[in-house]
Amino acid sequence: MLSVDEARERILTHFSPLPAEDVPLPEALGRVLADDAVAREPLPRFANSAMDGYAVRAADTPAATSEAPVRLRLAGEVPAGSVYAGVVGPGEAVRILTGAPLPAGADAVLQQELTRAGEDAGEDWVELLEPAPPGNNVRMPGEDVAPGAVLVPHGSEIGPAEIALLAALGVHPVRATRRPRVAILSTGDELAPLGAEPRPGQIRESNGPYLVAAVRRAGGEPVRLGIARDREDDLRAKLAAARDADLVLTSGGVSVGDYDLVKQMLAEQGNVEFWRVRMRPGKPLAFGFLGATPLLGLPGNPVSAAVTFELFGRPAIRRMLGAAQVERPVVDVVLAGEAIERADRRQFVRARLSSEQATLVAHPTGAQGSHIISSLRGATALLVIFEGAGYVHAGEHVPALLLNDELPWGND
Ligand code: AMP
Ligand code: MG
Repeated sequence: MLSVDEARERILTHFSPLPAEDVPLPEALGRVLADDAVAREPLPRFANSAMDGYAVRAADTPAATSEAPVRLRLAGEVPAGSVYAGVVGPGEAVRILTGAPLPAGADAVLQQELTRAGEDAGEDWVELLEPAPPGNNVRMPGEDVAPGAVLVPHGSEIGPAEIALLAALGVHPVRATRRPRVAILSTGDELAPLGAEPRPGQIRESNGPYLVAAVRRAGGEPVRLGIARDREDDLRAKLAAARDADLVLTSGGVSVGDYDLVKQMLAEQGNVEFWRVRMRPGKPLAFGFLGATPLLGLPGNPVSAAVTFELFGRPAIRRMLGAAQVERPVVDVVLAGEAIERADRRQFVRARLSSEQATLVAHPTGAQGSHIISSLRGATALLVIFEGAGYVHAGEHVPALLLNDELPWGND
C-alpha cells in the first residue's frame, strides 16, 4: 500500500503548467497569471484632490483661522475629468472637485467645510478658516503603485481585488495559463443520470455532477463524458472521447469486483496502475496514461471520490494552472465532540471549523461513512487523523486540511 504522500508525489510529478493565453480582464476571474503583471504607469496617474474644496498655494495659508480667515481670489474651477488651463498665482484659489488634477501652482487643497465663499463687486472670493499645509488633501502620483512595481505575481489567482488593481493600471488583457480540460466519466451499470428515473436497483449518480462542480471550482474546464456502462465497448468508446483532455477523471470500477472492467480496459488502452492508498475514505485509486493523457481513477463511493479528488485531482489541476499555491493550507485545530479512533490508514474526517476564544475548533459534520454525502455538506476542512492506535479525544490538537485556499488571517 502507498502512503497518501507517496501517491500524491507519484501523481504530481506528471503535471506542469499549461501554455499561456491572453484573457480579457473581465473574464479573468479564477484564472492564474502566467507572467508577473507589472505597472507601466504610476497610480494615481497624476496629483489629484482627495476632497471637494479649494486648490491653493500652501504658503498663502499659515495665518488662516476661523476668527481671522485668509481671503483668496477665486480664479476658476476644475471638475474631475478636466485640467485647469491656468496657473494658481499667489493670493489665488481654484475650486476643485474630488479626483480632479491639482492645478499648476497649487500644492494643497482645503476642504470645502473649512472655507466660506462669497462675491464682492463682481469678484468671487473664498476665505480659508484653517491653514492648508503642503500636500494637504492631495493624492500624490505613484503613492499607491510606483511604475515598474509587480502588481500581481505570476502564479496568483485572479480575484475581484486583482481585477480592480489590474483595471486601474490598464493591464488588459492579462496573460493567464489555459484552463485544463478535465474529462469526467462515471462508471457503473447501477447509475441513473441526472434527470432520469432510476430503474429498480439503480441509484441516482452524483459523482459526475460533483466532479464537474469541483473541477470548475479548482479552475479547470469540465468536459462531461457521462456514464459508461460496465461493458467493454461502452467503456472503450467513452474513453476514446477523453483522449484530447488534459486530464481524465473516472469514478467507480477501481475496487476489486466482478464488474470492475475499468481496470482491464485501462490496461488495454494505456498504461494505468492500480494502487491501494493508506487512507480512509478512498483506498483504491488508479493513475496512469491513456496514450499521452493522464488519467486519475477515483473510487465510486461519493465521499471517497470527493476526498481523493481533493487530495490528488485538485493539486494536479492547480499544477497545470501554474498556481503558486497547489496545496490547500493545513492549520492546527482542536477537536470537539466525540473521540475519533485511529486506524491503520490515515483518516480524513469532514469537519466544520469555528473560531472559539481565538482557537480554531473542529466539529465533525456527522457520520463518516464513505457513502454519507450529507456530512460532506457544511464541512470546511478535513481533519487529518494519522495512522496509529488509540483515540484522538476532544481537546487534542490535530492538523486540518482546509477546503478553501484562504486562511482566515491571510496567507502571508
Ligand atoms: P465501485 O467502485 O464502482 O464498486 O463503486 C463503489 C460504490 O460507489 C457503489 O456503491 C457504487 O454504486 C457507488 N458509485 C459508483 N459510482 C457512483 C456515482 N457516479 N455516483 C454515486 N455513487 C456511485
Ligand atoms: Mg462500479
